[in-house]
Amino acid sequence: MNIPFNKPYLSGKELYYIARAVGVGHISGNGYFTKQCHRFFREQYAFKKVLLTNSCTAALEMSALLANITVGDEVIMPSYTFVSTANAFVLRGAKIVFADSMAMHPNMNVARIEALITPKTKAIVVMHYAGMACDMDAIMELAAQYNLVVIEDAAQCVGAKYKDKALGGIGHLGTFSFHETKNIMAGEGGLLAINRQEFEKRAEIIWEKGTNRAAFFRGEVDKYGWMDLGSSYLPSELTAAFLYAQLENSTDINEQRQKIWNNYFTQLQPLAQQGFFDLPQVPKYAAHNAHIFYLVCKNLAQRSALINYLKSKKIHTVFHYLPLHQSPFFANKHDGRNLPNSQKFADCLLRLPFFYELTEAMQAKIIGEIRAFFLMTNYQVPNSK
Ligand SMILES: *Cc1c(COP(=O)(O)O)cnc(C)c1O
Repeated sequence: MNIPFNKPYLSGKELYYIARAVGVGHISGNGYFTKQCHRFFREQYAFKKVLLTNSCTAALEMSALLANITVGDEVIMPSYTFVSTANAFVLRGAKIVFADSMAMHPNMNVARIEALITPKTKAIVVMHYAGMACDMDAIMELAAQYNLVVIEDAAQCVGAKYKDKALGGIGHLGTFSFHETKNIMAGEGGLLAINRQEFEKRAEIIWEKGTNRAAFFRGEVDKYGWMDLGSSYLPSELTAAFLYAQLENSTDINEQRQKIWNNYFTQLQPLAQQGFFDLPQVPKYAAHNAHIFYLVCKNLAQRSALINYLKSKKIHTVFHYLPLHQSPFFANKHDGRNLPNSQKFADCLLRLPFFYELTEAMQAKIIGEIRAFFLMTNYQVPNSK
């Protein structure tokens, strides 16, 4: 039995909806299925205004434009995140100030953000790792105090909450991904949630190549033209049709993933209690969406040995992120601060296979092999420093 790390899940109606979009004869953007997806997010998650995008990366780029980030502005964000979180702001000329993770959680350490704020700071970008919320009350309070824009990189967060609010709907702007590795997917795709009215009009213009075409199609203006900066950020109806089929099944998808997540957690707890590795610690204010299941190994050598052992049993596990402050692109731009927790998760975090169709038998095999690695190979618990 070969167990892949990920397998994109088709919920049933994807191809049927694509055929319908083709049949209607409108396959460019902002048609019937785009509007259905927009309505879904407004109704399900109480987002005021949303726009589908080609990717979360595109939604982050739109956020940087909306926040008016220009050369020399400073933007605070975690080092332990995907490249796009930073790239979107670097494209506008921002100076990125990377923050460390917490010791026991990959999310940015909110208690350390204030010390990084200077008169040039314009925005904070938070990333909710594995759909587990950052402490948004504390972040929004800081933002109000220093007049900063908050952007939530909620790429991994469809269906996840902070207290009783949907992630992506709390900051000024929120961005989602529908890449095929996410819970809800469309191959490539994304969404921008616009949570403050002051950004609504401009967001639509940036989305439509810098024109007021969306307002024109609603009959609000009698011609449309070049109004502002913009790009081609809206996906075709083919993407929206695929996505809408997934959204209709999102409750089922997230429930099934929750079962898989809980099963990993319960079954691996005895090994964690023996000190072989740490399990995810979900903050009490976070209701996560079972996007990722991870272990935190004791060190890099242990993680590499475990990956190789599992690979020899045809079980494919992956790690991520290489800390952005040490990346080939950024290392010489970083201010030299040590970010030890970001480094720790880069070295020690391991993601187990996780997809809708992961069967109980597969999961039993994965858990059994992890147990075998630690117990039957007489694995010694290293002294954690
Ligand atoms: C997946 C991901 C992205 C990128 O999403 P795309 O839709 O592929 O652009 C950005 N940030 C985080 C945290 C992600 O997990």
